[in-house]
Amino acid sequence: MAINVMQVNLRNRIAGYYVFTTGILIAGIFLLLYYVIAQTMYAHLDEDLTTESTEVFKSIVVLSNQFVFANPYEWKEGEHKQVEVNPTFIQVVDTAGNFVRKSENLFSATLSGRKDLHSKVFYSTTLSNSSIRQLQMPIVSTENKILGYLLIAVPLSEVEILLHNLQILLVIVYPITLFLLFILSRFIAGKSISPVNKVISTAEHITKENLEERIELPQHKDELYRLTATINQLLDRLQDTVVREQQFTSDASHELRTPLTSIKGTLEVLIRKPRTAKQYAAKIAVVITEVNRLSHMVEQLLTLARYENHQIQKSFTRIHLPSLIQNVLNRMENEIEVSQMKIRFKNFASETVEADEYMTGVMIENIVANALKYSKQGSNLTFSTSKTTTEILCSISDKGLGISEEQLPYIFDRFYRTDESRTSSIPGTGLGLAIVKKFSDVQSLPITVESEIGIGTTFTIHFPKL
Ligand code: ADP
Repeated sequence: MAINVMQVNLRNRIAGYYVFTTGILIAGIFLLLYYVIAQTMYAHLDEDLTTESTEVFKSIVVLSNQFVFANPYEWKEGEHKQVEVNPTFIQVVDTAGNFVRKSENLFSATLSGRKDLHSKVFYSTTLSNSSIRQLQMPIVSTENKILGYLLIAVPLSEVEILLHNLQILLVIVYPITLFLLFILSRFIAGKSISPVNKVISTAEHITKENLEERIELPQHKDELYRLTATINQLLDRLQDTVVREQQFTSDASHELRTPLTSIKGTLEVLIRKPRTAKQYAAKIAVVITEVNRLSHMVEQLLTLARYENHQIQKSFTRIHLPSLIQNVLNRMENEIEVSQMKIRFKNFASETVEADEYMTGVMIENIVANALKYSKQGSNLTFSTSKTTTEILCSISDKGLGISEEQLPYIFDRFYRTDESRTSSIPGTGLGLAIVKKFSDVQSLPITVESEIGIGTTFTIHFPKL
């Protein structure tokens, strides 16, 4: 529902933006249109006035310091005698403003001119409260002296009515156009958004239970196609995570059940009848081993879970590699002693690297613990370092069982144990290397492994050069 409201808003918003910008554009066009029409009309009137002035000037004879009318009859009897629909008013005044002659259609009214004009000018003014367009022209003597003015005017009423009508038309048409544009663009926006609905409705009903469903890709490879493809990729990743989580939960339950079943079985056997103290001690020792295994596994699971949720931040410091390795070996003193492992440092430079001390310590500890478990008693465990242009490599090699090429890609998976170690009596949870991988990822310190059955295994941690 909320999504629908959002969609309606988006649709209105798109239409609103469109109408707003188009509105400004149309207003500009209308104003320009009005201006051009008005200017054209005035230009026409001015042209008529000029033609008329040429006619009138034909009947005026200009002398050195006066002017006379050459054809008074025509002037009197001309077309300007009657009151016409579109009359032309003509008036001639001297420099003092006293009119010398005027057309009869002016009756008692007079055209008011401007003073001190030296050239021909057009302007709008009034005559008996009505607007007129007027041309004022100086009458110049042969000695270039202004003797008087010719004033010719035509009523503006027709032009005014026309422009007024045009104004009304534009003012009415403008909002109607905008309204129609809004409706139209709202419809088009709705149409363009409608494929999003399909995406939304499919995405809405995808839950954890039907995560394998995907949104159908639209036909055209446009932004919507990319959006859909991106959502589908996101679903792929989500499904992957969920499947891995489910797998993890089922593996964890399975692995936890095994020692619990063993403990239960041992205790049930023990309780059936009274035993000797020696028998009790033996059975209790079995239970303790299983409990230790359980607690170790739970500890490893907690470590993984903590770093899975990114609850713990890494803190990078400069680490002196030999000291770190020595600390790990000191912590594992007992196990090393039991296995009689010979620790060697070969081609080992006293390097300093930048990493999280705790995580790197745990990585080395888990690798060494495996070397102890999967090697014969008294064999060699060698630490070495090397450099590339960008990295400092720290390798830990054992001369143990080795891992086959087919099983090598899986050893970092949670709960993965090679067939050999699963069937052997070597204790393990399959979580040690998963923790190593997790810490390698969290710190962005790549880890590589090389191994050969019967020859041994080498784990290498890649530290960036300082
Ligand atoms: P585990 O608790 O079984 O040792 P890990 O995650 O530490 O679990 O190791 C996964 C598997 O990888 C082991 O079960 C073992 O089969 C194999 N593996 C790890 N390290 C070595 C090694 N140094 N030599 C031989 N096999 C190894």
